Amino acid sequence: MKLIEKKCPNCGANLEFKETDKSCSCSYCHRSFEIERESNLDTDDISKQFNLSELKEKLKQAKELLNSDEYKDTMKAAQKALSNVTPLPLRIIEWVIGTIIIIGFIAIFIFIVYQIFTSTK
Ligand SMILES: [Zn+2]
Repeated sequence: MKLIEKKCPNCGANLEFKETDKSCSCSYCHRSFEIERESNLDTDDISKQFNLSELKEKLKQAKELLNSDEYKDTMKAAQKALSNVTPLPLRIIEWVIGTIIIIGFIAIFIFIVYQIFTSTK
């Protein structure tokens, strides 16, 4: 663990604290201090990595691509292809099961309504 040495802002004595310490206290005047840490983030370095105008241009290109007919046609074709992936027998089974479930719900609903009407008499 790296030790950091600084002068006490109150009495000028040497302060020693670890890199990870959030606060330290002076052994001479017994005052405690919060340790401010310098950020490792270099803003100049970041702006060098991401050229803003270049980034804007790339975003514009991406937006244009999303709005292009080519992209929309591709998505439509992909969706159509995916909808055809399910084989026909399976689709019939899905349809039958779906219909049975819907009929079941209608039957339960009718049964409940019937029960309510007959119980009020
Ligand atoms: Zn001190």
